[in-house]
Amino acid sequence: MRIILFGSPGVGKGTQAKILSSKLHIPHISTGDILRKAVLERTPLGIQAEQSMTNGELVSDEIMAAIIEDKLHCKECKSGFILDGFPRTEAQAVDFDKLLKKLKIPDMYLVAISANEEELVQRLTNRRACNVCHNIFNYNEIKNRTKCPSCGAENSFYQRDDDTEEVIRRRLEIYKSTTKPVLDYYEKKGKVIPINGVAPVEEVTKNIIDAIEERTGKKITISA
Ligand code: AMP
Repeated sequence: MRIILFGSPGVGKGTQAKILSSKLHIPHISTGDILRKAVLERTPLGIQAEQSMTNGELVSDEIMAAIIEDKLHCKECKSGFILDGFPRTEAQAVDFDKLLKKLKIPDMYLVAISANEEELVQRLTNRRACNVCHNIFNYNEIKNRTKCPSCGAENSFYQRDDDTEEVIRRRLEIYKSTTKPVLDYYEKKGKVIPINGVAPVEEVTKNIIDAIEERTGKKITISA
């Protein structure tokens, strides 16, 4: 299966991508995670991307196209992949179509997860991540813990630099102006699968799988 998980920051793309990746045994490609790792490791890519990321702005389309092309050549991606955070501009979507054609990868569906803006701001300001396993938690789930509930790492929780209210509002504005046209682009191609993101995590996962099966007419094999 090849899908794009799409939606505003905080809508649950990362959480759903991790669950689906482990249930379906296909890689989760998060462009945000790739860029954060590059920033942390001070690679040339990280140094170039850092300022835009800190300001909540988008990294250039050229950089993103190179990252995705490099990733899709990996052999684990042959049987499928879940894209999280890409494409984010219409130019990225157009270039991505060309890349799919070049790599002879069949067309893919875009799962558009939605939630209202206040819910998103709430979720993002309370978002914490583990710097070892990269799982995401709500602050209230982990505020009295020192160990990560997923991997057991000690004192590994952190808040992303771009999860402050001011930067969150800017990221939501950029989503509306730059990223929404991507949705229109895939809508014109009849490739959008809409999903309500305001529901318990497991329910959203089930709704995504059911909706993809219904749209493609193919049963998805899932492991527990
Ligand atoms: P995310 O974790 O997906 O919210 O991404 C964090 C930040 O990485 C974004 O605010 C952008 O600065 C950058 N980024 C991630 N994916 C892309 C993309 N497809 N195009 C441009 N910038 C991106």
